[in-house]
Amino acid sequence: MVDWYTQADAGNDVIRISEPHVNELLSANFWWLRGTDRDIVVDAGLGVVALREAIPGLFARDPMVLLTHAHLDHVGGASEFADRAAHPAEAGLLAAGVPASLYGAELYDKLGIDASAEPVPELMIDVLPGPDYDPATYRIEPLTLKRTIDDGDRIDLGGQVLTVLHLPGHTPGSIALLEERTGTLYSGDIVYDGALIDDLPNSDVAAYRRSMEFLADLDVSVVHPGHGHSFDRARLHQLAGAYLRRRA
Ligand SMILES: [Zn+2]
Repeated sequence: MVDWYTQADAGNDVIRISEPHVNELLSANFWWLRGTDRDIVVDAGLGVVALREAIPGLFARDPMVLLTHAHLDHVGGASEFADRAAHPAEAGLLAAGVPASLYGAELYDKLGIDASAEPVPELMIDVLPGPDYDPATYRIEPLTLKRTIDDGDRIDLGGQVLTVLHLPGHTPGSIALLEERTGTLYSGDIVYDGALIDDLPNSDVAAYRRSMEFLADLDVSVVHPGHGHSFDRARLHQLAGAYLRRRA
């Protein structure tokens, strides 16, 4: 079996989990937060390899998973968690079954991505996780939520308190989570240091602009995004400013 997941200490009792064998477009980060009272997992990866077998410790304290939005690379592993939460605007898509495929052409078609502008990868993973794995079996089953979370809600883990920020644009129910004691922002796909996506069928540029206006002033010490490396407040403000200029 391939080592599918990479774990890295992100400081302050937070572990970054990523999937290095997944194509750049879908290779997301998710975040394991270890509070003194309970654990929270922010997003759950693509779901190609069972988390419970690969990272048993993740489930030792029966964590709640908070989904930043309903895209396959963030919710694929969510069915493994009993306690699931997301914004109500994503609940319908999750309940219907998030569009998913490991074949590039089929995936682009399902997501409504224009495939004419760039080469489409044949397969979205660069190695099979095991010799018997069949990419054609990959799908995301319909997911019900145990609870919904909305702007201003607070989730206390003990030692870390997350505040929910509803920041639509990438999708209608995209959320970020702000841990105020450490100034850590978990931003999902709203902002990361790379090409941001605001042209999917349920994206909304005007809403994205308002979300970026909010982030352009936000006082944080570090951003842990849904894709790529973490960055500081100065870079957050640069990225938000660049988006606002591009979409002015
Ligand atoms: Zn996304």
